[in-house]
Amino acid sequence: MLLQRYVLWLLSLLLTVLLLDGCTDPKRTNRLVVIDAGHGGHDCGAQCGGKQEKALVLQIVQKLQKAFRNEGYRVYMTRGNDRFLTLGQRTRIADLKNADVFISIHANAIADKNRFEEIEGVETYFLQKTREARSQRIAARENAAVLKGTDELSKNVIIDSVLNGPKVVESNKLAIDVQRNIMRSLQRTYNGVKNGGVKPAPFYVLVGASRPSILVEVGYITNTKERNRLFDTDYQEHIAKGIVKGVNHYLDIRQKELGF
Ligand SMILES: [Zn+2]
Repeated sequence: MLLQRYVLWLLSLLLTVLLLDGCTDPKRTNRLVVIDAGHGGHDCGAQCGGKQEKALVLQIVQKLQKAFRNEGYRVYMTRGNDRFLTLGQRTRIADLKNADVFISIHANAIADKNRFEEIEGVETYFLQKTREARSQRIAARENAAVLKGTDELSKNVIIDSVLNGPKVVESNKLAIDVQRNIMRSLQRTYNGVKNGGVKPAPFYVLVGASRPSILVEVGYITNTKERNRLFDTDYQEHIAKGIVKGVNHYLDIRQKELGF
């Protein structure tokens, strides 16, 4: 009798352990994601209404780190505080850590004050040369601090050296999944969030990483409504959850394609 009870107790204990463990998909525990908060230190990024991009993206990556860990991912952040990193340092980290994906988080801005309240929305970029003037302008702004002292020829050599590999296709797929899931997550709770779509752009922060790499512009800091939302904790958490869902979807599919 005593033995029976002991066996039952042991079985229920085992079941509890299995159920608890089941909360985390075992496939995902081996995944490593590198999260990059844009700017930092002397480089404040975009500024408007007394708010700075470098502070905003730091708040978002902290929520992103938590959301990825809840899904069983290993997470590495290029910066967890207010410090400046060179472009090379950011992407080298992704390669050294052998990451599955590299995600850089930024906030957008426009120069034309008359259009501040008109331009808003979430956009996801992957590395690609483009003739589109708007994407070029956004990339130029984001690239400014990290490219100081690099001449035009070297810049083009850097970009050309990485553009024709399969990484571009993979990064494009990742960008589509992430953008779609950010929009789903935000639009479920918030009205009128504009979908700016997936776009190619020559962002240098994506050049050095030999992983599927994307840059998310979470919204426009120059738009009053969007700026207020972006600094709201709940809104930030919705962004983070959407990004994680998008990465889950991208990596689940890639895993199936590779058959492991
Ligand atoms: Zn930025």
